[in-house]
Amino acid sequence: MSSAPIFNVLIVGGGTAGWMAAAGLRRILPEQDYAIRLVESEQIGTVGVGEATLPHIKLFNDMLGLDEAEFMAETGATFKLGIEFGDWLRTGHSYIHPFGAFGEPWAGVDFQHHWLRAQHCDVAVRPLQDYSLAVRLAREDRFGFPAGEHGNIGSTFSYAYHFDAGRYAAYLRRWCVDRGVERVEGRITGVHRNGGSGDIAAVRLESGIELEADLFIDCSGFRSMLLDQTLGIAWEDWAHWLPCDSALAVPCASGGELTPYTRSTAKAGGWIWRIPLQHRTGNGYVFASSFLPPDRAAEALLEQLDGETDADPKLLRFAAGRRALAWKNNCVAIGLSSGFLEPLESTSIYLIQAAIMDLLKLFPRRGSTADPRLAAEYNRLFGMHYDRVRDFLVLHYVANDRVGEPLWDYLRAMPLPDTLRHKIDLFRSRGTTPDYELGLFSKDSWLAVLAGQGIVAERYDRCADAMGPRQLEQRLRDLEARLDRCVSSHADHGTFVARYCAEP
Ligand code: FAD
Repeated sequence: MSSAPIFNVLIVGGGTAGWMAAAGLRRILPEQDYAIRLVESEQIGTVGVGEATLPHIKLFNDMLGLDEAEFMAETGATFKLGIEFGDWLRTGHSYIHPFGAFGEPWAGVDFQHHWLRAQHCDVAVRPLQDYSLAVRLAREDRFGFPAGEHGNIGSTFSYAYHFDAGRYAAYLRRWCVDRGVERVEGRITGVHRNGGSGDIAAVRLESGIELEADLFIDCSGFRSMLLDQTLGIAWEDWAHWLPCDSALAVPCASGGELTPYTRSTAKAGGWIWRIPLQHRTGNGYVFASSFLPPDRAAEALLEQLDGETDADPKLLRFAAGRRALAWKNNCVAIGLSSGFLEPLESTSIYLIQAAIMDLLKLFPRRGSTADPRLAAEYNRLFGMHYDRVRDFLVLHYVANDRVGEPLWDYLRAMPLPDTLRHKIDLFRSRGTTPDYELGLFSKDSWLAVLAGQGIVAERYDRCADAMGPRQLEQRLRDLEARLDRCVSSHADHGTFVARYCAEP
């Protein structure tokens, strides 16, 4: 047992970032060594949006030991197999970015190379999208859990959720408080720093109470109270690549299909989302205010709703970018306080989760002070996560044929980040997609969006030539038959959700 005083962590803010951080830390850090407190202000509230997620959230919930059916019932969740991008390339065109593979690798060569080769040697082949089980299920509004066995076509996808983020934060709050996280209600009005080190010593509440800690986790949202306002960490602005700076969000009654996917439809000023939950549908218009005024965006959004609403669209302003550092002195920022990228690929909650897991791996030991080497590694990972997500989002915008629309004309012509230029060139020349061990996005995700946005691979990996055309044809027909059978064995999504959430 350590004789050092217990290590005190103070989380500033109780939105999705704050409560996810509190839960992740409480689950992993030993209670006898680390005390965790969270301060939040009901009066200030939370950003109140954030309903679509990526499959990684299931790993987080599993780490906490949450019961999936209970979590879904509590948060009004539905399943999500991917995102449909409608009108992004041009009006009338659509594709799905699925959470899963296209086909399967043969002889160690990724499927897209066999698919490209089939076209070069006149073997009949279906559109690429038809070889993704997740796409096929999504298009037919079907769902079932992935098969466990590797090698079964039914195992080639994963899934995420659409959920009510406010209910999720409240659910995690109960989970945390039951496990010893101390919740403090109050508005922070001041921050004290140590003269010598510049570390944060304490935050002061409106009531006069001071809260001290060894490590402060800034989850204060766009205000970025500690990282920005106190420590003055610079902002890297990416508005020239991602010019959308506003969103209007409005819920409506459930209407239309309970799709197991998010719908994203490109519009003159940006794009509109549709996220079906069990009890309502979330809608929003993400737009560039220099190209479209908010009143026109509101009209376009309300026209698109497929259910009744009595709410007025809520306007949110933001900037695309990230802080130069997320860990400085004894302060780590997680969530909106560290950066923001528009919700096109539902990455914010993922970035929160990645930040929590990276922090846990580098967490200071009881009795130690913050080690700059740990902070340096954390900041390297933070930068990597953000930069990769940025490239992926920008890709959706650059390859568009929406000629004559000022925003889309600008996006088509803008200079790209070098890292994205390289990825596009590589795909064009050889059909090769980035393959990261860490972070987002998978090679299948890149393939979905590169091909979906109409970028054509001129050649394929020559290793695919090792398979003769007759064998290739047989394999394709066999794969198509297995996919067809697998799709028809899955249930209607709405029926599946109702049955699953009703289970005791
Ligand atoms: P907030 O929710 O703003 O929480 C900040 C907390 O800090 C609050 O508890 C507040 O009370 C507290 N606080 C602030 N100042 C003080 C103070 N002075 N004293 C005490 N407490 C204080 N993400 C996704 O993953 N998927 C999506 O589909 C998605 N859609 C989005 C759509 C839009 C339009 C926007 C803007 C964001 C979206 N996001 C999405 C991002 C997502 O909403 C956020 O990442 C997530 O909610 C985390 O927010 P947060 O906890 O960092 O900040």
